Amino acid sequence: MPARILSGNAIRDQIYAELGSEISALASAGIRPGLAAVLVGDNPASKVYVKSKIAACEKLGLASIQVTPPATITTSQLLAIVDDLNRRDDVDGILVQLPLPPHVDAKKVLEAVDPAKDVDGFHPLNVGHLVAGRPTLVPCTPAGVMELLRRGSIPLDGAHAVVVGRSDIVGKPMALLLMHANATVTICHSKTRDLPATVRRADLVVAAMGRPAMITSDYIHPGATVIDVGINRVTDPSQAENFFANFPERLAEFRAKGTALVGDVHPDVAGVAGALTPVPGGVGPLTIAVLMSNTVKASRLRRGLRTTAAAVQR
Ligand code: NAP
Repeated sequence: MPARILSGNAIRDQIYAELGSEISALASAGIRPGLAAVLVGDNPASKVYVKSKIAACEKLGLASIQVTPPATITTSQLLAIVDDLNRRDDVDGILVQLPLPPHVDAKKVLEAVDPAKDVDGFHPLNVGHLVAGRPTLVPCTPAGVMELLRRGSIPLDGAHAVVVGRSDIVGKPMALLLMHANATVTICHSKTRDLPATVRRADLVVAAMGRPAMITSDYIHPGATVIDVGINRVTDPSQAENFFANFPERLAEFRAKGTALVGDVHPDVAGVAGALTPVPGGVGPLTIAVLMSNTVKASRLRRGLRTTAAAVQR
């Protein structure tokens, strides 16, 4: 039986509807939460990501500010920008789009963001709160996965979850959130021995390696839930032929456009998994939805208002 498709778009729409009511209530109290995005240089992918985050703010009625310094900016100049945003009362959330140019000290910049405005959840103080299981601003992608699992009614209590990838922005916080939700968690990475056998023991697999279609059907225990965090652009026709051999519509689309997005999970896994997130339209939309939710949450917390946490349960 083909896997149940866990649509991120549908869940994003639910979250936006819930956030919409919260934002209207804040507006009646004269509050308009605001997000500042710092986009350094001309990285095309970063531009696309920031554009979609600003578009989401506009759709929901949040204020947004874009700061776009050139790639030649120094660490101290960037720190001055962050300091200015930290002080502005109309800014509730600050996101510094990664990657930063190699000459910039990215850690120093991320640590300069006021933890109360750290809507990406990257500041060490917020990371510490997450480790301790205290309420905090949680990194958007793993928090989005948790929403997908909760709203998709995927049971986590006692489940064996295998997270492939241990980055600070996805793998590590993902593993912590799953552990706090009572899953038994295994974290894998590039040095893990016999990865297929380890992943095959999972009731739930979260793939976040940045390796196109690497998790193939033989990694998956029949019926397991598979969350595909990866977003990879494919332009090589032979790769596309392999990935989409059983998906003629996707292959035709690739042939027409010369490009396609594929996750870290091979599309054929849909024939083995019990539930699967698509790429695109799976985890991606939820990352932005949680960013919006974190901005609203930060604006309430900064003003000493209770978080209703209507949209995203954390
Ligand atoms: P990252 O910082 O490059 O980390 C990749 C992780 O995968 C590392 O821990 C690495 O292990 C591990 N890995 C790499 N190759 C592996 C292999 N062959 N076997 C096992 N583990 C392997 O990447 P990231 O920022 O976490 O992103 C991961 C993917 O998610 C990317 O495709 C990215 O585009 C996507 N992403 C999507 C969203 C979204 O909104 N959907 C958001 C963020 C990221 P080592 O630590 O040993 O090197």
